[in-house]
Amino acid sequence: MSRQKVLVTRGDIPESGLSILKNKYDLICWNKTTPIPRTEFLSMVKDVDGIFCLLTDKIDEEILSTAGSKLKVVSTMSVGLDHLNLNALKTRGIHVGYTPGVLTDATAELTIGLLLATSRKIIAAEHALRNGEWTSWSPNWMCGPGLANSTVGIVGLGRIGARVGEYLKPFGVNKILYSSRTEKTDAKKFNGQHVSLNTLLTESDFIIVTIALTPETREMFGKSSFDMMKSTAIFINISRGEIVDQPALIDALKNNKIRGAGLDVMTPEPIPLDHELLKLDNCVLLPHIGSAAIEARREMSVITAKNISAVLDGHPENMPSPVNI
Ligand code: NAP
Repeated sequence: MSRQKVLVTRGDIPESGLSILKNKYDLICWNKTTPIPRTEFLSMVKDVDGIFCLLTDKIDEEILSTAGSKLKVVSTMSVGLDHLNLNALKTRGIHVGYTPGVLTDATAELTIGLLLATSRKIIAAEHALRNGEWTSWSPNWMCGPGLANSTVGIVGLGRIGARVGEYLKPFGVNKILYSSRTEKTDAKKFNGQHVSLNTLLTESDFIIVTIALTPETREMFGKSSFDMMKSTAIFINISRGEIVDQPALIDALKNNKIRGAGLDVMTPEPIPLDHELLKLDNCVLLPHIGSAAIEARREMSVITAKNISAVLDGHPENMPSPVNI
């Protein structure tokens, strides 16, 4: 009997995950470290039993119908699901796996790093030093607001948002507000107060977005949100770029409606080098590295592989992280 086939859409998947699949299945691999082009994806996906994919791979009707009836499982090495057409997957009875939890610490620590880099101008200061602009210690040079005694608002208190709240506690933050559809018991760990989004936007000195991207949350931050924020507010987004109406954010930054923004996610990704966001000196941009801790990426590859092998071995109930659709 021929072995089942798994399409792996990237060439630099950590070996710890790949080795779980290698001995059991025939792996069809896109061997480059850049995303698989759509035409290659459509050609390589035919007749596979499983797909090991990343957040850069759009899994839609066309991919699923081209794959054909053998496809039993799609497992993404990410916690975000916005690149997957979940309705189409559900209709076809295809199991879906993802990697929640194992990247929470890594993404939360990057969020704190990005917040500090933005508020305390860490990247700009380092560039200034290298450019010979450090002439002396100066009372006002490279100053930004501190976290102590501030109010921080977290939008979307899921796994990552809650961990960010915990990490903020030792900084002496005065109040942590959060908005979420439901109150969260996790918020007790850091005395988080459940408030409406409008209250959070008007009262916070730092606004951190950790919400999932869904049709309801797409572009939830537009002109009216930025108008509501304090002129001294710092906006941090580690969720997905599409959560933000980006031209409205650019307008807010350009016209100093808010003090600054730190973005690990944006649209498009990668952002073109001549993009307006890169011309703003009150914006810190990172190339979507929230989960890029070595341990997290290793564990993400293992979970992604185990999700696949559970289904292909006939035991979907053993998937470590199924998406319940
Ligand atoms: P999670 O535990 O599922 O949290 C998602 C949050 O979004 C929950 O608080 C949920 O609120 C909220 N939410 C979803 N739909 C909503 C809606 N319609 N209205 C209001 N709130 C809504 O996920 P997570 O593990 O914390 O990850 C959060 C997101 O971070 C991911 O979806 C992903 O896009 C992003 N992420 C980015 C990186 C990076 O590298 N930058 C890394 C990992 C994750 P309820 O609890 O009220 O449902």
